[in-house]
Amino acid sequence: MTDAYAVFGNPVAHSKSPLIHAAFAAQTGQDMDYVALLAPLDGFSDAVAAFRSMGGRGANVTVPFKEQAFGLATRLTARARAAGAVNTLKFDADDVLGDNTDGAGLVADLLGNLGFALAGKRILLMGAGGAARGVVFPLLEQSPASLFIVNRTPDKAIGLAREMAGAGGNLSGGGYDALNGRFDLLINATAASLAGDLPPLPADVFAPEALAYDMMYGKDTPFLAFARAQGARVADGLGMLVEQAAAAFEVWRGVRPLTAPVMRMLREA
Ligand code: NDP
Repeated sequence: MTDAYAVFGNPVAHSKSPLIHAAFAAQTGQDMDYVALLAPLDGFSDAVAAFRSMGGRGANVTVPFKEQAFGLATRLTARARAAGAVNTLKFDADDVLGDNTDGAGLVADLLGNLGFALAGKRILLMGAGGAARGVVFPLLEQSPASLFIVNRTPDKAIGLAREMAGAGGNLSGGGYDALNGRFDLLINATAASLAGDLPPLPADVFAPEALAYDMMYGKDTPFLAFARAQGARVADGLGMLVEQAAAAFEVWRGVRPLTAPVMRMLREA
């Protein structure tokens, strides 16, 4: 029988995950089906339970449910526990494994696909939601000079930096008015781009040869347009999406698919 997988989100219609996993399945000869499911904002766990009762084997979780997915897992990987957020669920009988492949996906994209070394760099991470949580530890593992988390609600950024302080490194957080100096890498992990908004960034935050990375993918965002206008190199989150999907696919199926042909296919589409 074909194994069923899904991505849960709200909104979710824009998701490219069904295309990516179909391509991975074809590439690796796995018999599986993968669909996008819109969960009501107040009905995530019911939607997941219904999918499991129909035989669902695993799921990806996107905005705004990653912290709720963390609470749903009966078992967590170390990287999910560190993140406090889950983007990958695997169902086996009564066992619900929660994993987080976002950080590994981002780092793989930055280092492997974009050739951007992180060691010694000043990093600005915008946002303190599920996506931001998932990438803090993996970024710190690359030994940047500093990592500043900035958020519209400053207390959430300060709290996240405190929570992650155990990872070591020069980590701090605050509001946009606390920004100080220039950054080599600016990562937009806010949901602002989904609404066509630009986080309130000053123009002078981009260091020479800075890379501006928007986790949103598929269209030019106000953040990337702003960064380009300041002379920064820009990248969208398509590579992260494909890399985190490859890591999730490996969790479910035990096979690591090739990402380059799938990224090419999506860019051409
Ligand atoms: P959450 O809802 O958990 O968090 C949203 C964050 O965005 C909060 O920090 C919120 O601030 C901030 N925010 C929302 N609107 C604005 C705004 N107008 N200006 C400034 N800050 C704002 O979302 P996620 O963390 O799950 O996802 C964030 C984004 O990352 C989404 O666009 C998602 O699609 C993308 N993403 C992409 C991935 C990829 O593979 N490419 C993987 C994961 C996520 P506050 O706390 O003040 O509300």
